[in-house]
Amino acid sequence: NCLPPLPLGPSPKRATRQATVAWKTNIITVGGDAPVRVQSMTNTDTADALGTAIQVKELARAGSEMVRITVNTPEAAAAVPYIREQLDKMDVLVPLIGDFHYNGHTLLKDFPECAKALSKYRINPGNVGKGAKRDPQFAQMIEAACQYDKPIRIGVNWGSLDQELLASIMDSNAALANPKSAQEVMIEALIQSALQSAEKAVELGMKADQIILSCKVSNVQDLVAVYRDLSRRADYPLHLGLTEAGMGSKGIVSSTAAMAILLQEGIGDTIRVSLTPDPGAPRENEVIVAQEILQTMGLRNFTPMVIACPGCGRTTSTTFQELAADIQSYLRQQMPVWKKTHPGVEDMNVAVMGCIVNGPGESKHANIGISLPGTGETPAAPVFVDGVKVKTLRGDNIAQDFQVIVEEYVAQ
Ligand code: SF4
Repeated sequence: NCLPPLPLGPSPKRATRQATVAWKTNIITVGGDAPVRVQSMTNTDTADALGTAIQVKELARAGSEMVRITVNTPEAAAAVPYIREQLDKMDVLVPLIGDFHYNGHTLLKDFPECAKALSKYRINPGNVGKGAKRDPQFAQMIEAACQYDKPIRIGVNWGSLDQELLASIMDSNAALANPKSAQEVMIEALIQSALQSAEKAVELGMKADQIILSCKVSNVQDLVAVYRDLSRRADYPLHLGLTEAGMGSKGIVSSTAAMAILLQEGIGDTIRVSLTPDPGAPRENEVIVAQEILQTMGLRNFTPMVIACPGCGRTTSTTFQELAADIQSYLRQQMPVWKKTHPGVEDMNVAVMGCIVNGPGESKHANIGISLPGTGETPAAPVFVDGVKVKTLRGDNIAQDFQVIVEEYVAQ
């Protein structure tokens, strides 16, 4: 009884400036009181305008609120306005972010239509020119952002960190009586690279409200340490992402582990889950994972969630797993339309349970729940709607009958 009460839920989101990333009527606020935004990135050759437009559309349809495309060559820069045009024709107004490395200053100057068609520029301070060329090339990119009134993300990445800055911090560190560890030096270099670049951008005329920062690394503990520190030293909105998170479950788990800690502490205004896709896997998976991180943490709702038990020796077949997967996929597919026609449907949850041990209890807590018959149970599936048992399904068409009940519930 003497212990202080434990906090329930995440810490309040840290106070930041608010940037705006927009295309026509689609205005996405980032930071401040805006919800944590989901973004993703294409893996098509941007010069393949049609292929890129199709993938952007798919990512947007899956729920990506901003989509980044690489702009790495004159051909890619020339394709950007055409990609934008194709998307506009399909009424896909998702803002496009141009990812620039090495030659962004030239591309933004030589391809003004590309500069206009993008809604934000990502600048990597680690590869905007070297030595004496760095400042003028960085200034050229900021000039374009100011001229076309576009926000920027200063995106530092451990894999392409400014080596001159790192060397100078290492030298200063070596001269200290109690030098910092290599990890601390690396973190300091990442943060200083972001903060110094933001300061330079503001000196060059960039509005501070149009700057977003990120410092990506590929190790969970490093990412947490970097963002904790960065969030105390600046009030720019922060983009979170574990870079090179990896393939399959490793990528999902490590991204979730890193981001969940930071989000729980109120750190992070936009996220991307960078997954190395399994061959043939849809690119949209990274959007789904990002949404699920936010939704399972109770930070945002995107799509009705299906709660399913893992199954055990009491389940007689895989019917309930198939039913759970079918219902989740059906609900996800409907969301682009339901978002407009059924506001609030994303808050709904559906329980699909394998037997009566936890089935009725979990079903009563969901908006709609079904408990399929387990081993030795009567072949009947009680259905609960808003906590009340409304009917019992029997026979070979339980899955179809249950889907009808879900559809009717949504319609009402
Ligand atoms: Fe097993 Fe039943 Fe629990 Fe599902 S609800 S895990 S089938 S005991």
